[in-house]
Amino acid sequence: MYINLSDLKEIGGRKNVSLELEFPDLEFVDRDIKIKDSVQLDLEIYNTRDSFVVKGILEAELILSCSRCLKKYSSPIKLDISEDVMKSEMEDEEELYLDDIIVDNIILSLPMKPLCSEDCKGICPECGQNLNEGECDCEVETVDPRLAKLKEFYNDNE
Ligand SMILES: [Zn+2]
Ligand SMILES: [Zn+2]
Repeated sequence: MYINLSDLKEIGGRKNVSLELEFPDLEFVDRDIKIKDSVQLDLEIYNTRDSFVVKGILEAELILSCSRCLKKYSSPIKLDISEDVMKSEMEDEEELYLDDIIVDNIILSLPMKPLCSEDCKGICPECGQNLNEGECDCEVETVDPRLAKLKEFYNDNE
């Protein structure tokens, strides 16, 4: 998606852009992210001599996968955007390419381990039951491997 800058040729000029855009095709490298509905952008763009400075706010609702229970959940975001797009790196000085700006800012805002909730119980390693939705009947023994070694040692010597 591009913003037309043909009316922003003058150095020192600025303009405000409010946009609500759908980005169905954004690629987030190998992250499993979807954008629900649209992205709301309120931007101010300045023409400096060598670059366009893009400042403003990005709002969207992301669909992320919980790293513990693997369930999809919705996560609203509101990000401050501050970018300096060098004219020398633009294909065309009359068009500002937005996709990279949006993808970079969203990826930077993501938690390392997304969680559907702080106290997500995750899934049972035996049967795969989502433990947020109910207990399963598995008896999962969580034994510290060091203690397990000790136990073996004592059992062998009895
Ligand atoms: Zn979860
Ligand atoms: Zn289970």
